[in-house]
Amino acid sequence: MNPDSSMIDPFGRAITYLRVSVTDRCDFRCVYCMAEDMTFLPKRDLLTLEELDRLCTVFVEKGVRKLRLTGGEPLVRKNIMHLINELSRHLKSGALEELTLTTNGSQLSRFADELAAAGVRRINVSLDTLDPDKFRAITRWGDLERVMRGIEAAERAGLRIKINAVALKGFNDVEIPDMMRWAHGRGMDFTLIETMPMGEIDADRTDQYLPLSQVRAELAERFTLTDIPYRTGGPARYVEVAETGGRLGFITPLTHNFCESCNRVRLTCTGTLYMCLGQEDAADLRAPLRASEGNALVAAAIDEAIGRKPKGHDFVIDRTTRRPAVSRHMSVTGG
Ligand code: SAM
Ligand code: SF4
Repeated sequence: MNPDSSMIDPFGRAITYLRVSVTDRCDFRCVYCMAEDMTFLPKRDLLTLEELDRLCTVFVEKGVRKLRLTGGEPLVRKNIMHLINELSRHLKSGALEELTLTTNGSQLSRFADELAAAGVRRINVSLDTLDPDKFRAITRWGDLERVMRGIEAAERAGLRIKINAVALKGFNDVEIPDMMRWAHGRGMDFTLIETMPMGEIDADRTDQYLPLSQVRAELAERFTLTDIPYRTGGPARYVEVAETGGRLGFITPLTHNFCESCNRVRLTCTGTLYMCLGQEDAADLRAPLRASEGNALVAAAIDEAIGRKPKGHDFVIDRTTRRPAVSRHMSVTGG
């Protein structure tokens, strides 16, 4: 990499992590993420897989070391393995340290071996409950059994798995200790996420919001939690749990602002770059990408965008307006 081309934002943070939402579509309709009746983007608005590859490559040339594919559900994008196989050349060259994805697990039985062969080493699987009926209720359309088969396939393929669960009041709060024991018993990290106020959904978020400070305090009454410096390049802060020997992560956008160490930006499947998950400001990269065959225009547009990356988000679960802090759904930027 040319050192002059690296991305440093106005607060001195080096941008080394790109998250790419490869589709806004999903085979689930998790209640905190989507409304049941969603209008998705027309296919013609999507970047092609070749265009996604080209954009990701420009970011890698500009210093991105970690690339995470997300969505919507990344594994429902048609021919997604073509993109992943192409991107894996950056792993082989050493330009990229990690190529990974966040998935709901529904398609993992089909893709686990191919992902491992492409050089993917770790994946995040989102799973909010171990109860099949509750799983169906929270995802509206999902089948727990199928996700479990996917997780087993990923384990057999040698992928390391982190389980991510959104902590939801009155839904999975009572289950958190059991889920943690289950994940740690299988050698998987377990991370809890606070609900973030993104997009109109059919429910009231103030009913769902469970501060992780409270969850942690309750867990600390039953388990010995020790803060550890372990990091995976994302916003989670980890503790080690003496009783299980596993790692427990907390992603706490609301109770503890994690922006000061933010190293990431987010690209949508239409080529829109969001400099912050919790802000509306964005830059269009599709037009400069399509304007010429060379990458100079798009590289300049990226530099301009990084130059206005905000200091942090303004998330708040607002009891008075009950409006989402950010109007787009999480499935647009992929979390
Ligand atoms: N479909 C994939 C999945 O579920 O893993 C990838 C995309 S999904 C948007 C990424 C993550 O965002 C999931 O772990 C999901 O639970 C989380 N998520 C979605 N909406 C959220 C919200 N409003 N607040 C917090 N996390 C959310
Ligand atoms: Fe789909 Fe993931 Fe959103 Fe659930 S959280 S609806 S699986 S994109």
